[in-house]
Amino acid sequence: MKTDIEIANETKLMPIERVAESLGIDKDSLELYGKFMAKTVQKDISADKKGKLVLVTAINPTSAGEGKTTISIGLADALKKEGKNVALALREPSLGPVFGIKGGAAGGGYAQIAPMENINLHFTGDMHAITAANNLLSAMIDNHIYWGNPLKIRTVSWHRCQDVNDRALRNTVIGLGFCTREDNFDITAASEVMAILCLANDLDDLKERLGNIVIGENLDGELVKAKDINANEAMAILLKDAIKPNIVQTLEGVPAFVHGGPFANIAHGCNSVIATKTAMHYADICVTEAGFGADLGAEKFFDIKCRLSGLEPDAVVVVATVRALKNAGGKKENLSERDDEALLKGIPNLIKHIENIKNVFNKPCVVAINKFATDLDEEIQIVKSECQKLGVEAVCAECFSKGGEGGRALAKAVISIAEQKSKLKFAYELGDTVEQKITDIAQKVYGATGVKFELKAKKAIEKLKGTQYEKLPVCIAKTQYSLSDNAILTGRPNNFEITVRDIHLRAGAGFLVAVAGDILLMPGLGRVPNAEKMRINCEKITGLF
Ligand code: ADP
Ligand code: MG
Repeated sequence: MKTDIEIANETKLMPIERVAESLGIDKDSLELYGKFMAKTVQKDISADKKGKLVLVTAINPTSAGEGKTTISIGLADALKKEGKNVALALREPSLGPVFGIKGGAAGGGYAQIAPMENINLHFTGDMHAITAANNLLSAMIDNHIYWGNPLKIRTVSWHRCQDVNDRALRNTVIGLGFCTREDNFDITAASEVMAILCLANDLDDLKERLGNIVIGENLDGELVKAKDINANEAMAILLKDAIKPNIVQTLEGVPAFVHGGPFANIAHGCNSVIATKTAMHYADICVTEAGFGADLGAEKFFDIKCRLSGLEPDAVVVVATVRALKNAGGKKENLSERDDEALLKGIPNLIKHIENIKNVFNKPCVVAINKFATDLDEEIQIVKSECQKLGVEAVCAECFSKGGEGGRALAKAVISIAEQKSKLKFAYELGDTVEQKITDIAQKVYGATGVKFELKAKKAIEKLKGTQYEKLPVCIAKTQYSLSDNAILTGRPNNFEITVRDIHLRAGAGFLVAVAGDILLMPGLGRVPNAEKMRINCEKITGLF
């Protein structure tokens, strides 16, 4: 089969104005970035017309990814073939994974969004704008301290950020010679500015949230905010274009709003609320993806994004691959080799995610088996019949090799379950204590026996007691490879506790980050990063995907 880039290059794209027009978006509402990418001028998206919403999530992935983006795109293409007026709402890629391990995030095979090189690299510059706004705040904090520190800032909890995996920036010492202090860089996808952009309703809301960012404490132990050093307006100015959703197209001409890109392990993992609402405003059905497995992406999609924005999906697709199920069942190499014993041992991982969607969040779901060329019919059949036992339909999706045509069965299943009436339930109540909220997620969603809070976390929770921040939702930062906080416990682990090391207040975004296990907010590159294999000759790039 051809490579992603070959397939993409062979496809004749429509001018983006025509793609937008197919949704009823006129030219005056577009700001063009070349021929095939545009930003949509923000409009009142709270209006009456609301399309259906389909969430695509997955089992716990392997490091190669399970194909959620590929399936989301293929599903949207298939829904178009079924006669639906459909749009996608997806995250924009971070340079971290692009140059690290995973390659691009614009789908694959015949299910891609385009122009994929642009989308994967600098796109319309949102990531850079977010990085700049984040680091402007850092510069203003250190400048405030340099000029006499009138606010008596004693500790700074705000971190600088960068959109490349860079281990060496994880723990740094800055300000040598004037106000030497430790600082940590986080990856941009995990920065609070990214979360704010993704959760804000409009520019005013963005500004207010930026102002509410807690940057540290003063000598009296009081919280100091971004607005106290007058940084929020300037940050909002840097983000004035980044807040507008980007529109591109799939290889089959379906409009895709690609906007905001927090990771789901160390951040909340969903594209912007603005993009989802815009897609739902213009289309009759919107397909969106939440990152990594359903324990992370879907949980945060429901408990954070839906709760804060009022969104509610009508149907959920759980993506599984035979390869990852074998991996979950203990097979670590040659995942394309048949191994029914490992496959059967891995299926409880899928079952737990299905149970969570149905029982914890009360939403109907269908399983999409993302078919790889090496998968055998017998293996697919095993997955189907195990799902059937739970009363859940599992369909084989061949979007990677066949585009929308390969997703027709999935599209039919999705249309059917999206007709069911269901009321979203959350995994925890905002009014509960921080400990209880985290314990609810751990027990109900991960299947843990309980949660161990280390001293630092206990102290952070103690500080929140009695404040408005105690009532915020919780964003757990943990490994994506396991339902637990320990990457090596694959499958459906039981009899485990999770360990919460620390709690970070993200007052602007409106959630608390609970750091579990040994997860870090700045990833590192692997021994041989993807970047080493890339080439460019006469503007032709190879090795990117
Ligand atoms: P996710 O969104 O779950 O991280 P992606 O859709 O980005 O996963 O897919 C991860 C990688 O796997 C991509 O490089 C994609 O092209 C590739 N991929 C996805 N599905 C298939 C498939 N059925 N066969 C071969 N490669 C696939
Ligand atoms: Mg993806």
